[in-house]
Amino acid sequence: MIMTVKEKVCRNCRLFVQGSVCPICKQSQFSRSWKGLVVINDPNNSEIAKVMGLTVPGKYAMWVK
Ligand SMILES: [Zn+2]
Repeated sequence: MIMTVKEKVCRNCRLFVQGSVCPICKQSQFSRSWKGLVVINDPNNSEIAKVMGLTVPGKYAMWVK
């Protein structure tokens, strides 16, 4: 679990976003209160992606406030 770097996470998708708009939902609802980190490379073959409801490859937070 990485807690030192406080990157921002989309509140809708839980995706880590570098720019000002989330590339998945096109919104700017970000949070820096998140815990856990999961990288999804192949959503179709990932149990975690299925459980979390993720369909787009990327880096996600497990929990977002
Ligand atoms: Zn989003």
